[in-house]
Amino acid sequence: MQVNEERLLNFRSDPLWDPAKISHQHPIIIAGPCSAESPEQLLTTARELKAEGVNIFRAGVWKPRTYPNSFEGIGEEALSWLQEVRAQTDMLVGCEVGTMSQAALALEYKMDYIWIGARTTSSPFAISELASLLKDSDIPIIIKNPLSPSLDLWKGAIIRLINAGLSKIAVLHRGFDMGKKEELRYPPLWDEVIKFKKMTPGIPFYFDPSHIAGSREFLHPLIHKGMSLNYDGFMIESHHNPEVAWSDAKQQITPREISHLINTPASPEDIINLYRKELDHLDDELIRLISKRREISKAIGEVKIANSYSPFQPERYRRTKSLFNQLSEKYDVPTTLSQTLFEEIHKDSTSIQKQIQINDENK
Ligand code: PEP
Ligand code: MN
Repeated sequence: MQVNEERLLNFRSDPLWDPAKISHQHPIIIAGPCSAESPEQLLTTARELKAEGVNIFRAGVWKPRTYPNSFEGIGEEALSWLQEVRAQTDMLVGCEVGTMSQAALALEYKMDYIWIGARTTSSPFAISELASLLKDSDIPIIIKNPLSPSLDLWKGAIIRLINAGLSKIAVLHRGFDMGKKEELRYPPLWDEVIKFKKMTPGIPFYFDPSHIAGSREFLHPLIHKGMSLNYDGFMIESHHNPEVAWSDAKQQITPREISHLINTPASPEDIINLYRKELDHLDDELIRLISKRREISKAIGEVKIANSYSPFQPERYRRTKSLFNQLSEKYDVPTTLSQTLFEEIHKDSTSIQKQIQINDENK
């Protein structure tokens, strides 16, 4: 583990982009549709993006859809459309790759960069194969965080790329799948990611507000937050006519809207609304944990009744009270709050167990 952590800490990526090609832009803006749909859609979107000062274009060519029988991308043909975008707009162009054959095609069609998607980052086998295929090229690679909130898989994937000798690497924060439907499509887990950022000082850190948001309404405050956290780059999904997009329609915005969101501060209402979504998520967790705790309390109540123990055990009461005190210090929560919570939880627990006793006596 130590060796791996050091590898991340000491690696310095070569610059991914020729500064002249991106007009020395900072932060870097990468934009383009979720999926390539037609040559016209790519060219129209790319021209509009270029007019807004975006120099790096993205489009998904192979789409890793959760279920089959949905649009899974145009495939190889769209690589030549991307070449046409480059020829006509002088933008840099890239797409996602997830398999060896896709990576080989991306090299053959001379993509200016590629990214590895969240689902692929989760697979050490896939990453090892991709690394061995790409190692002799100097193609820039952007590696998205894995879907699962385990940052270890992300670290492992980056280290595999570094170990293979790849020299132009950026990472991209696109949010995490928490296993249930959330207001933000993929919650960002800021604290964990900010800690992770400190472990990779030599690797550019990019941000994808589109997949975190899942819908346009959260993009402005997310971009604002991304700016305040000094990400080195942003990848934003953009379509000239988002309503009719073949994938991720709800989160795509027009090129004009990208400029607007980047260049104007988010309103206080939007920022508060974003934080409130995080609070809603935490409140859900809070009540879910309390419900789980009640279930365990019930199970203990059954054992107590079967063995003629009293529901209230003074020694246990004292120990838990003191545990809550210690926890309030550990997590910096006022003791008055944690003690109130403890008393309420304990009262509820005792009453659950007393009810079990009453039910038993009435049998
Ligand atoms: C995408 O960028 O369109 C994509 C599929 O992203 P992710 O891997 O983050 O889901
Ligand atoms: Mn997408």
